[in-house]
Amino acid sequence: MDTQGFANILLSGPCNLACPDCIGSRLESGVHLSSLDRWPLPGLARFASILLERAIREVSLTGVNTEPMLYRHQPRLLEWLRRSLPGVRISLHTNGTLVLRNPGVFNLYDRATISLPSFRDSTCRAMTGSARVLDLGRILQVATIPIKISTLVTAANEEELDEILSRCRSLGVRRLVLRKPWQKLGPFEPLRGHAPVRSHGGNPVYDLDGLEVTVWDFHRAQLDCVNLFADGTITSDYELARGAHA
Ligand code: SF4
Repeated sequence: MDTQGFANILLSGPCNLACPDCIGSRLESGVHLSSLDRWPLPGLARFASILLERAIREVSLTGVNTEPMLYRHQPRLLEWLRRSLPGVRISLHTNGTLVLRNPGVFNLYDRATISLPSFRDSTCRAMTGSARVLDLGRILQVATIPIKISTLVTAANEEELDEILSRCRSLGVRRLVLRKPWQKLGPFEPLRGHAPVRSHGGNPVYDLDGLEVTVWDFHRAQLDCVNLFADGTITSDYELARGAHA
């Protein structure tokens, strides 16, 4: 399996969506504490020392049970990380709902992954509790950073995958991940019939007419990662962070 080092800052707090597949409520490690107002985040200095020691320079800001753009101190956190970890690359893993409200903050990151369940309002309602479909075209217009799309594949949207892939491609998306739900057992082969061109983190990557699609099954992945939870707990367990944020 491939290995690579990265780190997650996992925020906790109330979310602005209510996804039935959100794993936040199923985890226990400090996730029930809200960190959305906290500065500095508990454990941040120790987290940075570990990253320096292990030469990890890829940091992702995400939420265990919340949307990371709800964090009130994003600019301050990014500035602190850049100062403390020279050469760090910071990515945001967001549900996308607040990007157009605050594009200035969004564009402070080095790159972003945006969760997109569907282009249909009924499917969005089933998968997120909100029928509002992301205006991905507008988001791509205001973004000055590279964007990857992440689509959790469930019974609610599996019939729409061709539509999702082709609409993303026509909007100019270059990279997309199809993710298997956490704890779902059995094979996950949404692109059966296509041949992968390489692998990433132990998972196959496909080139679909210029759209790079990774099929992500957490059970196959072997990643070296460090996680900072809302209560300051630091773990090296990819299992804990693997399904964070739909
Ligand atoms: S999966 Fe993400 S967007 Fe959905 S409720 Fe959980 S934290 Fe919020």
